[in-house]
Amino acid sequence: MDPRLDLVRRSIRDVPDFPKPGILFKDITPLLSDAEAFEATLALLEADARRQRTEVVLGIESRGFIFGAALASRLGVGFVPARKPGKLPAAVDREAYSLEYGKDALEVHQKSFRAGQRALVVDDVIATGGTARAAVALCRRQGAEVVGVSFVIELSFLEGRKALPGDIPIHALLTY
Ligand code: AMP
Repeated sequence: MDPRLDLVRRSIRDVPDFPKPGILFKDITPLLSDAEAFEATLALLEADARRQRTEVVLGIESRGFIFGAALASRLGVGFVPARKPGKLPAAVDREAYSLEYGKDALEVHQKSFRAGQRALVVDDVIATGGTARAAVALCRRQGAEVVGVSFVIELSFLEGRKALPGDIPIHALLTY
């Protein structure tokens, strides 16, 4: 195994019963505060993003902003934030979804993408996949081509992959 992956794995903290009883929360703050682990994470995400010839990164609020924006900067491409409702100031497109512990929606400013632009969706964790599915739908609605969906962590027992369109490559650095 790539030793960088082991470093990433060791820097993630499991917090039981957050934000609700029964949820094992994957806390990435120890990873962020460890310069080597953060660098390793970004380098691994970057390799996948370059393979997909990414032209723009969409990051999902809020932890997807941290990885997505840093990744976009490394790639030399733009960054589009997908935000929770009511946060973006101009006209938006909205997509509702349900998640492991609640219901929510994502919004993206209208005209965030050029027609056919190669978009990579980024978040820290894929659980049930509803959030990422909404993000993919927003990209597609605005004419972007979603070339991949990248996560630091996949909770495979929740089968989030099944929620995503079958034709999109899905990358996760770590699978639990
Ligand atoms: P889902 O829509 O179920 O795939 O949920 C994914 C979103 O919820 C991501 O933005 C994650 O940051 C967050 N999330 C869900 N489950 C967890 C978990 N066990 N640990 C950390 N974050 C989680």
